Amino acid sequence: MTIYADNAATTKLSKTALNAMLPYLEEAYGNPSSLYAIGQRAKEGLEDARERVARCLGCTARELTFTSGGSEADNQALRSAAQQGARKGKKHIISTRFEHHAVLHPLKRLEGEGFEVTLLDVHANGVVEPEQVARAIREDTCLVSVMYANNEIGTVQPIAEIGKLCREKGVLFHTDAVQAVGHLPIDLAELPVDYLTLSGHKFHGPKGVGALFARRGAPLASLIEGGAQERGKRAGTENVASIAGMAAALEEATGGLDASVPRLTALRDRLIAGLEEIPYCELNGDRLRRLPGNVNFCFEGIEGESLLLLLDDKGISASSGSACTSGSLDPSHVLLAIGRPHEVAHGSLRLTLGADATEEEVDYLIASVKDVVAYLRGMSPFWRDLCSGKRPHVFEK
Ligand SMILES: *Cc1c(COP(=O)(O)O)cnc(C)c1O
Repeated sequence: MTIYADNAATTKLSKTALNAMLPYLEEAYGNPSSLYAIGQRAKEGLEDARERVARCLGCTARELTFTSGGSEADNQALRSAAQQGARKGKKHIISTRFEHHAVLHPLKRLEGEGFEVTLLDVHANGVVEPEQVARAIREDTCLVSVMYANNEIGTVQPIAEIGKLCREKGVLFHTDAVQAVGHLPIDLAELPVDYLTLSGHKFHGPKGVGALFARRGAPLASLIEGGAQERGKRAGTENVASIAGMAAALEEATGGLDASVPRLTALRDRLIAGLEEIPYCELNGDRLRRLPGNVNFCFEGIEGESLLLLLDDKGISASSGSACTSGSLDPSHVLLAIGRPHEVAHGSLRLTLGADATEEEVDYLIASVKDVVAYLRGMSPFWRDLCSGKRPHVFEK
């Protein structure tokens, strides 16, 4: 059996999305800024996609700027709010320790430019509470940025409550909703956020395309200069085929939420229950306040890389917050933020289910992880020390 269980990293393009893209690759390939018919057809496709994305999210088409993906949209939101803040003499920004690097790295850069950044701690359950944000807001705060759902541990944040208090205090609020859009119901007509980031390839759309929602009246600065596309807010010939594919994927995902949320939640809980039978492990992140398809565990006495390689041998694609997979020496900043010690953060496993996941696949995942964990522990000197009492256990049996 082969199972792709890394849908938080990226997803398979859906057939619907692919079919929506083909006309703009094969026939209506014109430049949307051109006046002749084949350019105008591309232009119509672009604006039609904008309308459709807007309808899925409950905003207006004018509030959407298409970007190259989630990273660019995050950068643009932070930069836009920071520039306005600087003009008003407000150079304090609040965010959290477990944001995606597409938020954390631009914030580092802004710090270098004289902004003060407060990164809120995350509770052990992977949730940031509104009171933490309320306590951190100051007279000179220009922006709060809190992710909708975490990409590693899947925990869902109280975005409506945080947004409400930001609005009361007159502070701009951005949410990186890349993991939530297409996976949870989101209605921007109700949700009090000023900026929201989404990315096509996290909901079975194509890679290299995303969007930034900026509410009417919220400042929007251009990161990329050179043309009048996207009402002057994002230069560059529009990626019409991918934008059309993203719109189709979003319609498919949001239209199916009533069925997919309970279905995936049941599969997720089955997977969690199965893996919890393994001794000395613990679920990362809140059991209930988490994305329907996200499962993330720490196992004692396990190296994440070895786990991934052996799972790959069994046909399973998964992910770990351990050092080598992320290309740095430190384990996942998310697992450290929720208080996991280094030695167990290295032994983490993230399994994220796609829209078409089945019960049979979940059972195969459970059996395979049990097998591989037992095998690796069997040959680990570190595990032997834990069992003989030379080292203390971190988790209960
Ligand atoms: C994937 C992801 C991003 C980056 O999106 P890209 O389209 O790959 O640039 C940003 N934030 C979160 C939470 C993500 O999961």
